[in-house]
Amino acid sequence: MTVQRNSFDIIIVGGGLVGASLAIMLRDSDYRIAIVEAFAHDADAQPCYDDRTVALSYGSRTILQNMGLWPALHDQVEAIKTIHISDRGHLGVTRLYHDEEGVEALGYVAENRVLGEVLHAQLARQDNVTLFCPATLQSIEEYQQQVSVVVEQDGEPVALQAKCLVAADGIHSKVRRCLSIANTGKTYHQCAVIANITPGQRHDNIAYERFTDTGPVALLPMTGNRYSVVWTQPVAQAEQTMRLDDEAFLQQLQQRFGYRAGILKKTGMRSMYPLSLQASSELVRGRVVMVGNAAHAIHPVAGQGFNLALRDIATLVDCFTAEHDRQLDPGRTELLLEYQSIREADTRTVYRFTDALIKIFSNDFSPLAHSRSVGLLAVDVLPFIKHRLAKQSMGLAGRLPGLSRV
Ligand SMILES: Cc1cc2nc3c(=O)[nH]c(=O)nc-3n(C[C@H](O)[C@H](O)[C@H](O)COP(=O)(O)OP(=O)(O)OC[C@H]3O[C@@H](n4cnc5c(N)ncnc54)[C@H](O)[C@@H]3O)c2cc1C
Repeated sequence: MTVQRNSFDIIIVGGGLVGASLAIMLRDSDYRIAIVEAFAHDADAQPCYDDRTVALSYGSRTILQNMGLWPALHDQVEAIKTIHISDRGHLGVTRLYHDEEGVEALGYVAENRVLGEVLHAQLARQDNVTLFCPATLQSIEEYQQQVSVVVEQDGEPVALQAKCLVAADGIHSKVRRCLSIANTGKTYHQCAVIANITPGQRHDNIAYERFTDTGPVALLPMTGNRYSVVWTQPVAQAEQTMRLDDEAFLQQLQQRFGYRAGILKKTGMRSMYPLSLQASSELVRGRVVMVGNAAHAIHPVAGQGFNLALRDIATLVDCFTAEHDRQLDPGRTELLLEYQSIREADTRTVYRFTDALIKIFSNDFSPLAHSRSVGLLAVDVLPFIKHRLAKQSMGLAGRLPGLSRV
């Protein structure tokens, strides 16, 4: 492999959840990796490691375990043992149970901030990673044998070269903009209002997904007997919700969600995220490959974004590792296109599944509402369909990368 100052095998732009995870997955490889990240992981302005939580699927837990991160995470995450799905104002409920699926938990809830600490503690131990932070990408030049980038660090331009450039720089990816790659998709005209709340009773490791006519409300069990609330609302309503005082906020949430989780007693700070469905029109361009939100950003309704991205980058690592064994080149376009084709089916399924959930459950047209109730009841009583839904949400459907294997 090349060894020159500022010359690497792989440059990852973006050290958020996805970019940092990719570098860790490559910890045992000989690849020399640079990460270019705009904000320190514990800076207030860091857009990724904030107060949000991520519902990690069971499959993602296996990946994190194989990355060597689970011992550090285990005591800081909460298990989801039951998932309860309902439709406000209509009959029909579906419940998924961990014991029916033969697993310790259907998934786990982790705070983004905690994930950031664990990921960056590991990165600091890796000799094969050089972190350029705070540093921002300015420009990209593509050549036959390499990609060159200029980043700005401490007000100075710094030139870096690599065989492969990975864009993990989020939904407004600068890499994509530098290469004039279009981002296609749609906005849902919805925002997610998030907050961590404390109920008056034990959460018993139950996650709730409640569809309402104005958007879904998810309550995810957290450590310290708290719930992470992801409340999707039309933009104007979400802005109003943000302006409420804590008491009025809890009252409105209670009225929307109901009393299944008991009385909602205390709330932490609220924040708001606009929601859209976006996909990069190209995942691979020459020696450049897009991952995470730079490749596709989906609605958080089914908690799939980061889980999908972990399966993406674990597959990319399979391709990089096979290439390394053959002493070839990690930025070879054919290799990156092979990665793209392996990931196509899973991405399409998650993309369509998430979009369909929003369309079907945000509509109060009465025949559709009736079919929805019947659908939820059917899933609840038909073990085969229920098992398929559980497998999909546990991230165990379709072709799995090496790091997903126990
Ligand atoms: C409300 C909400 C709830 C969610 N819940 C879940 C869930 O339960 N489960 C789940 O799987 N997913 C969930 N997601 C999705 C998940 O948050 C995303 O999939 C994930 O954050 C994507 O990470 P990323 O690293 O690709 O992008 P980002 O998080 O956007 O990180 C991009 C990184 O690149 C850096 N960067 C950007 N531009 C530059 C530049 N020019 N130079 C250098 N660095 C740059 C940024 O500073 C940042 O660190 C949720 C999303 C939202 C909005």
